[in-house]
Amino acid sequence: MNAVTVRVPAKVNLQLGVGPLRDDGYHDLVNVFHAVSLFDEVTAEPSGRLEVSVQAAPHSRVAIGGVPTDEDNLAARAARLVAERLGVRPDVRLRIRKAIPVAGGMAGGSADAAAALVACARLWDDRDQLTRDDLMEIGADLGSDVPFAVLGGTAVGVGRGERLTPALTRGTFHWVFATADGGLSTPAVYAECDRLRMEAEETAQWPTVSEGLMTALATGDPKGLGATLSNDLQPAALSLRPSLRRTIDAGRDLGAIGALVSGSGPTCAFLAETDDDAVGLAEALHGAGVAEQIVRAHGPVPGATLV
Ligand code: ATP
Repeated sequence: MNAVTVRVPAKVNLQLGVGPLRDDGYHDLVNVFHAVSLFDEVTAEPSGRLEVSVQAAPHSRVAIGGVPTDEDNLAARAARLVAERLGVRPDVRLRIRKAIPVAGGMAGGSADAAAALVACARLWDDRDQLTRDDLMEIGADLGSDVPFAVLGGTAVGVGRGERLTPALTRGTFHWVFATADGGLSTPAVYAECDRLRMEAEETAQWPTVSEGLMTALATGDPKGLGATLSNDLQPAALSLRPSLRRTIDAGRDLGAIGALVSGSGPTCAFLAETDDDAVGLAEALHGAGVAEQIVRAHGPVPGATLV
């Protein structure tokens, strides 16, 4: 087998419910993941050793400066885990082309890990020992967003977010994403969430899946979806990056039917009713100058896929 290329989507959290801080330092989450058509590509090819290179995808302006090109890269760690499971040497060259913003709250690193799992399994697993479920299970060891990047579509995750149930959806939803200069660290955003809750003497509720959101997805109702989007990390992301408030407000003023910070931010996600509306909203947001880059995408789309 020569080179294998896998395309993998970014995600936006339609609901991110964050429970109280647990004794082990984690939070119980309710997470509705939604895969959108903003893709990284990972090519895996046989090599004398494990090596990684990273570049921005053509026409994308992703700042790849913060992405490691050594064993710390999540894609390299994924390759190593697949090799261990199959009892082969992890000798592979991984070429990553990124269109998903780095540290943007769209799970780009997890996406690359998922792509590497699928690509390396294709390279090395000539007896089809590993199922997609096995790859999702291996991915859960790397991060709670990795199994979803393998699965794609729209899915509900509970616990630390890694136990996934596909959600029923109808039709396509149209999104506009506003990226920001410089990322936000996910652990820092969780810590700020805990700090804000402590300061407000607020006891976090046990999160449950929003029924309104599930109904909007199942009936393909964009307005219903826009009205039920929620992110418990948003106050923390806005506290660490106050300028995001302006971006969110601008999107609402310019006609978005839903607006929220994506995951731990700083990318902001805006929902439009139709594809045409998304084009108009993207142009208007671009004109408002409230973001580093404006990108349109639709969802749901499949998870890591061989191309
Ligand atoms: P999430 O939404 O899962 O919280 P994110 O989108 O905010 O994640 P990522 O782009 O996944 O953030 O990157 C977070 C950090 O992970 C980066 O700053 C980088 O140091 C590290 N990292 C490791 N491997 C990768 C990779 N393949 N691509 C991007 N970042 C990587």
